[in-house]
Amino acid sequence: MITIRVYGEAGCMPYKTIALTAWQAQLPEAIPPHVRSNITEGDGGCWLWTRSKSPDGYGWASLKNKTHQAHRLVYRLVIGEPPEGTVLDHLCRVRHCVNPAHLECVTPAENLIRSPITQAGMTVCAKGHELSWIGRQRRCLTCLAEYNQSVRLKKIEYAREWRARRKAA
Ligand SMILES: [Zn+2]
Ligand SMILES: [Zn+2]
Repeated sequence: MITIRVYGEAGCMPYKTIALTAWQAQLPEAIPPHVRSNITEGDGGCWLWTRSKSPDGYGWASLKNKTHQAHRLVYRLVIGEPPEGTVLDHLCRVRHCVNPAHLECVTPAENLIRSPITQAGMTVCAKGHELSWIGRQRRCLTCLAEYNQSVRLKKIEYAREWRARRKAA
């Protein structure tokens, strides 16, 4: 067990201490310790959420007095905000897994209704790619694929850093 002191927003007094396992301590620092303390190592590289789950099996996390889907929160903290109109799909099929490397942005038909990217009459996106029809909406799948590719590089980069840190520990 490794004990971490958590400081207040103003960075003054430590207001609580959180005990993390060695594995939790090595998770990316972008994830606050109290969130890391709810993750455990699973099979196949999954990071399993151990706290509350929704009836459909996704983890619930709280940060700054707000409740978030745990996998979405961890993805945002480590990788960044996913593009508007997308949802995160679990490549590992384990719904309470929060490993960002196991998540990919996809555009389900129901999300496209609210998506701002497509306007009537548009056949190409802002970058000039031809749009695809998804349901009754047009959407640039090339831009989405490019985004997922850039994220893949980011995931590889932090996985390498993480392995190096584990080795050093
Ligand atoms: Zn997983
Ligand atoms: Zn495009």
